[in-house]
Amino acid sequence: MMRYSGFTLFRQGLSGHRGWQPAWDKATPKPAYDAVIVGGGGHGLATAYYLAKVHGLRRVAVLEKGWIGGGNTGRNTTVIRSNYFYPESVALYDFALRLYEGLSKELNYNIMLSQRGMLIAAHTPMQMEICTRIANAMQLNGVDGTLMSGAEARERLPLLNQTADARFACLGGVWQGRAGVARHDAVAWGYARAASALGVDIIENCTVTGLDIRGGRIAGVETTLGPIRNDRLGIAAAGATPGLAALAGVRLPIHTYALQAFVSEPVKPMLDTVLLYLGTGTYLSQSDKGELVFGGGLDRVPTHGQRGNLPSQETITSGLLEMFPAFGQLKLLRQWAGVVDVVPDSSPVIGPVGPEGLFINCGWGTGGFKAIPAGGWLLAHLLATGTHHEISRPFDLDRFARGRLIDEAAGSGIAH
Ligand SMILES: Cc1cc2nc3c(=O)[nH]c(=O)nc-3n(C[C@H](O)[C@H](O)[C@H](O)COP(=O)(O)OP(=O)(O)OC[C@H]3O[C@@H](n4cnc5c(N)ncnc54)[C@H](O)[C@@H]3O)c2cc1C
Repeated sequence: MMRYSGFTLFRQGLSGHRGWQPAWDKATPKPAYDAVIVGGGGHGLATAYYLAKVHGLRRVAVLEKGWIGGGNTGRNTTVIRSNYFYPESVALYDFALRLYEGLSKELNYNIMLSQRGMLIAAHTPMQMEICTRIANAMQLNGVDGTLMSGAEARERLPLLNQTADARFACLGGVWQGRAGVARHDAVAWGYARAASALGVDIIENCTVTGLDIRGGRIAGVETTLGPIRNDRLGIAAAGATPGLAALAGVRLPIHTYALQAFVSEPVKPMLDTVLLYLGTGTYLSQSDKGELVFGGGLDRVPTHGQRGNLPSQETITSGLLEMFPAFGQLKLLRQWAGVVDVVPDSSPVIGPVGPEGLFINCGWGTGGFKAIPAGGWLLAHLLATGTHHEISRPFDLDRFARGRLIDEAAGSGIAH
């Protein structure tokens, strides 16, 4: 793998940038692999990378029906945080955040991690109570979380509506300083490049259409590029996972909804943190290019359509303008949607399902970008060892039969 550095950039500059190599090899399917992963999003690519890097498996393929990172991984608003409520969730999301903190170096690929901090803002005493509860839970679970006063928040966010008649006047909220954003495409491309360098085959434009199950075991997959033999299969296909699991006779407790996001025209720096308003559900950050990136809650009509609509635009944009009336001058540049996989207790599903050798990593709903390194690590552990890592154990599908739900919607008030 060509190493990226200031020196390489300088040397390439001298030769007119003609010596750059493709970041990853475009592979065609081999007849058989040790392990196959369906879905070339962040979770699938990270799984392949850790399978090769940590567990030494080299005959691994990632099958992607479109282009890598073209699913939710390339459609999200890039917020990374670990401000969750239950110890199981904190163990999972903070593990991901710790891996993110070293990822640019590990992959030799700048994922543009920017730990600019995140404020979950409250505008009623009741919401301040919720924020206090979240901050206490975070501290008890060993994660950096503090209460921020209204004065501190207004100092940090000078453009926030501070007029006497503001409908959602900010009373403060819960602050996580290690939270932030990272470049989503770079996460997918960085994992793809590093996995490819370790021998993983990354196969784009290859749709998995069927599962070959023999004697209760996975024996292979049917694809649009022909059959592939493999006795270990990982599915990390976000909203497409229920349909794929159904091919193995498994019914998952997942609904798929469109989640929408928006980008404004780029402007000069004016917002140096990530902000989520409990009152409006709208959240935002400013990208490195200067655009305002913002989103809100789910469009609660089950769908597989990856496009935006006007009612969501009205709800989410009005939330933005309640917080920042000055942003009314900005032009909206883009609006889009991704199909997210929502589980009743708002926590992911990681573990074995159906026939032996089949494992899933899904149910991340609106919040799986921040979990990519951990999700990949944990699915790789399952595929390599056949057993749970201690962090993934609570997220097994059997929690619905055991009644040990991890209800993060009720716990931390998150939207997914
Ligand atoms: C608008 C929006 C905003 C979001 N904001 C955030 C955020 O700020 N922070 C955060 O943490 N999360 C956020 N998320 C959620 C996050 O994007 C997802 O949870 C995460 O990207 C899921 O990654 P993944 O790898 O599991 O899925 P994906 O990136 O969707 O990858 C799955 C891949 O599987 C492929 N596939 C499907 N079926 C098949 C098949 N049969 N054969 C082969 N390939 C197949 C798809 O083409 C896709 O590329 C947001 C999501 C959206 C839509």
